[in-house]
Amino acid sequence: MSQIKCIGILTSGGDAPGMNAAIRAVTRAAIYNGFEVKGIYRGYKGLITGEIAPFKTQNVSNIIQQGGTILKTARCQEFKTAEGRKIAYDTLVKENIDALVVIGGDGTLTGARIFATEYNYPIVGLPGTIDNDLYGTDTTIGYDTALNTIMEAVDKIRDTATSHERLFFIEVMGRDAGFLALNGAIATGAEAAIIPEISTEVDQLEELIKNGFRKSKNSSIVLVAESPITGGAMHLAERVQKEYPQYDVRVTILGHIQRGGSPTAHDRILASRMGAAAIDALLEDQRNVMIGIRNNEIEYVPFNKAIKNDKPIDRELLNTLRKLSI
Ligand code: ADP
Repeated sequence: MSQIKCIGILTSGGDAPGMNAAIRAVTRAAIYNGFEVKGIYRGYKGLITGEIAPFKTQNVSNIIQQGGTILKTARCQEFKTAEGRKIAYDTLVKENIDALVVIGGDGTLTGARIFATEYNYPIVGLPGTIDNDLYGTDTTIGYDTALNTIMEAVDKIRDTATSHERLFFIEVMGRDAGFLALNGAIATGAEAAIIPEISTEVDQLEELIKNGFRKSKNSSIVLVAESPITGGAMHLAERVQKEYPQYDVRVTILGHIQRGGSPTAHDRILASRMGAAAIDALLEDQRNVMIGIRNNEIEYVPFNKAIKNDKPIDRELLNTLRKLSI
């Protein structure tokens, strides 16, 4: 095995519930295996500013149930430049950090891939994003919690939608991915999900209108993925209101409520398994891989694959939603 003695850990990009469980797992598994651990604050920014502290087992006590990230997160433009990454590298050398575990989404793993190649530096990534848009893992850390938050919110909106016989467009997160919208729609018995993956194939709104938003029902709920491709909930609602004034249309944008909260059991277990697997990967001399779990098996997914391969939406789910919303 290579000469790794000290492992640095950071969370970057959009935060996701379960990141703390992942920090705990990486820290504890590293210490269990005899490594030193250092926590890097505010994502890649901490590597530029030198905000780094030694982490012991007690630093990660009592955090498995907390949303957010105790290491904080930030967007760091400087890390996108070669000069910024040089400063980051010098910091790692100065701090005697021999390998990194980074937790974040697509952007975080892209930064990791570039840095790892540039400096031949060992990095293992964990998929931490509510969007579930990374290839090579069935779910990402935070996705299940966000889905449950959406379900609870939509259930509440359903009560008022039914009382007033309204049509609600509810916008959920998922920049380029419809996982939250589609599975959220199935979980809440919504009429439809408008998602970026099929927006170019069919006019999903037109389809809904043609079907009369199912006239036998006294309320309708449509989940919309927040994305320039779908146009977002507000845009769709305006379109309906203009063309079909008979509908009493309302919009709810769930927003950042989806990012917070105590992680579900699924996310805590996922983060714990992935965190421990990140240390196993380093022990096995793996580098530049993201830890994925597919069919309940740990997998090492090269950064290139995790980032570049679009994770397809499951057509069976779309069909199920269509069948059940008649
Ligand atoms: P997420 O990881 O949630 O997708 P971002 O896209 O904001 O979030 O990325 C998080 C951080 O990763 C950025 O602020 C930046 O520091 C780093 N990053 C993203 N893309 C690149 C890139 N092309 N090169 C270097 N660093 C990057």
